[in-house]
Amino acid sequence: MRIIIVGGGIGGLALAAGLRRQGFDAAVLEKDIDPAVTGGYHITLDGPAQSALRELVEPEIFERVLASASALRLREPDVFWDRRGRLLGHGPDLSDDPSVDIDRITLRLLLAEAAGDSLHLGRTVSRVGRTEEGRPEATLDDGSSTAGDLLVGADGVHSLVARHLAGAPTSRPAGIVGFSGRTSAHDLSPGEQVRLGPRSGLAIGPRGAALYVGFLDPAGNAVLDAPGLRASVTTGPTYIWGAMFPESSRTSLLRGETGAALRDALLARYRQQGWSEPSLEVIARAEENSVAAFRFNAASTRARDLAPWPAGPMTALGDAVHATPPTAGMGAGVAIRDAAGLVSHLCDVRSATTTLSVAVSRFEAEMRLRGGVMLTLAMKTVRLILATDTRLGAAVTGAALPALAAVRRIRH
Ligand SMILES: Cc1cc2nc3c(=O)[nH]c(=O)nc-3n(C[C@H](O)[C@H](O)[C@H](O)COP(=O)(O)OP(=O)(O)OC[C@H]3O[C@@H](n4cnc5c(N)ncnc54)[C@H](O)[C@@H]3O)c2cc1C
Repeated sequence: MRIIIVGGGIGGLALAAGLRRQGFDAAVLEKDIDPAVTGGYHITLDGPAQSALRELVEPEIFERVLASASALRLREPDVFWDRRGRLLGHGPDLSDDPSVDIDRITLRLLLAEAAGDSLHLGRTVSRVGRTEEGRPEATLDDGSSTAGDLLVGADGVHSLVARHLAGAPTSRPAGIVGFSGRTSAHDLSPGEQVRLGPRSGLAIGPRGAALYVGFLDPAGNAVLDAPGLRASVTTGPTYIWGAMFPESSRTSLLRGETGAALRDALLARYRQQGWSEPSLEVIARAEENSVAAFRFNAASTRARDLAPWPAGPMTALGDAVHATPPTAGMGAGVAIRDAAGLVSHLCDVRSATTTLSVAVSRFEAEMRLRGGVMLTLAMKTVRLILATDTRLGAAVTGAALPALAAVRRIRH
């Protein structure tokens, strides 16, 4: 069975690795010319995502993932702050949390290695369709085409394959624009190093402004303490932050900026909205070239709306089907679980226990459920942030958050 995979991001490469490991003939067509030259910050892999990855890649690659990842169980519980950096509360104890965080670039490079010669870089698919014999086919922008028995769209949030199958885009803007960057902990003042600490946090202010600060330390907080296997591009304690604002003409202007200009514009926007200087230090001291804008896209939270096409020899997985804002930190993990699910059902086809269309149908049914759960979770935070952008929400956030912070100070 020949499987064509359009897109070599996290889901496509995970699928290729698993198919290769099981002896299938797979080809990934990826438009990037180098897997290392890509954007992205850190990716969270929860327990089920790690189990899926363990099935897909060789043990040696899995060990390198763990040696390059930062463990949540070694962190302090997450925190919530108001816009002045005052503590509002803590998240749950993480000591039993199996989740790990890894640089997106590191994960993609390790998966590319696992995919081996099935990965074809610099190949942009411009069209998908069927051959005269009805086989699924991808046409590249150089005019060449390739056909298989199954074609899988792993081509991300603006998927060409899923749009072809669904007859319309499978996700839409979620109403929030994000701006991200990286800041080395060593570049922060001693006071901020202590306040942020070895943990992640979320600050929420009125008018839909929020700031997520994630802690990543694959060297000091390594899941597997094996420096010889470490491949992480992050080498010291680092904060990956994400500024969030409701989408508007003002965020459209911000999206036109990059680097230092974008950083300064973000700082100006937060200051206008009454955020304190210490709570903005993580942005002010970011690595200049790391600051970038991205728009949150989301598919429907209803499982039955996902992959709305009849099962056949063309399907899709990951963001192509269930694009999600990063607010649940599950997009990559669920794409990896999709890949493991598809490999397992294709093994049933090879052993003749089922047909291809039944296998794809079962895979899609499971993917809809996984995607629906993740989207529901991710959209809860999006709705909370958007709720502070109403008149009532702004008033409640402005009055209630300082009160909560004061109560906490009295209690401690
Ligand atoms: C640049 C980038 C940065 C990201 N940063 C983060 C992050 O910091 N944190 C986080 O949690 N998530 C991040 N994500 C999202 C996260 O990686 C995805 O949610 C998750 O990996 C889902 O994987 P996927 O394989 O479905 O999609 P993706 O990982 O997005 O992969 C899709 C791939 O398809 C390729 N592609 C698209 N169209 C075509 C075409 N026509 N022909 C050939 N190839 C095509 C793209 O180049 C891309 O490599 C990022 C995604 C991207 C693309």
